[in-house]
Amino acid sequence: MSGRTHARACPERTCVGCRERAAKSDLLRIVMIEGECAPDPRGTLPGRGAHVHPTPACLDLAVRRRAFSRAFRDRGPFDTTELRRSIERGGR
Ligand SMILES: [Zn+2]
Repeated sequence: MSGRTHARACPERTCVGCRERAAKSDLLRIVMIEGECAPDPRGTLPGRGAHVHPTPACLDLAVRRRAFSRAFRDRGPFDTTELRRSIERGGR
């Protein structure tokens, strides 16, 4: 055996809220649609995406850090009302 580990078994992304790395499948992809942050649970929507843990705490952190502005290259403000609602309903 070569001694190499299976390090890249699943792709990782950084949560824009807590800045921790996590498996892509554990994070919720967010896209911006006309100034509104929208969840993209299947990861299929076009455009820039930001990944965040599907929890209100990480969403709050992301908003406070203006992480969405950086991720979407747009000053905002972004409407996260619907996004928050769907996260509070159970995330994805
Ligand atoms: Zn997080």
